[in-house]
Order: sequence, then structure tokens, then C-alpha cells
Amino acid sequence: MRIDCKHVWEHISAYIDGEVNAELRAEIDKHLETCEICSAVLDSTRNIVVLMADDRVFELPAGFSQRLHARLDKELELAGP
Ligand SMILES: [Zn+2]
Repeated sequence: MRIDCKHVWEHISAYIDGEVNAELRAEIDKHLETCEICSAVLDSTRNIVVLMADDRVFELPAGFSQRLHARLDKELELAGP
């Protein structure tokens, strides 16, 4: 199984919460080792998850998600197809 960035983002919240299965976790770990974009996303997401931990609600602050995605789009563009 080969996963890409979008796959990682889809599961990043569950990954942080330890709710992904061992196989997927291993794939995400492997991807994170080689992908700076996803490492940055993981850091950002982890900070937010910590902030939100009390409510156990995964909801990004207004504007954050948009800014993050704009940044990711740019990075992906630079990274090429
Ligand atoms: Zn990635």
C-alpha cells in the first residue's frame, strides 16, 4: 500500500489520536519521514488537537484551514506533479 499526502491529511486527526490501525500508522510514519509538507501539517494539527483536547472536537479555528490549504496548494505546486 502506497499512500499520498491527501491520504495522510484524511487520517491525520485519527493518527494523532492513535485510532488508525497498525498498517496505516506504519505507512503514515514512512510518509512523514520523507515528506516535509505532511510533517508540517502534522505539527500544526497536533497543536490544534492539543488545544481542542478538552472537548474532543476536531474543529479548526476560522480561517486556519483555508490558510493551511492555500499554503499546501502552493507547496504542492512547487513540488510538481
Ligand atoms: Zn506528504
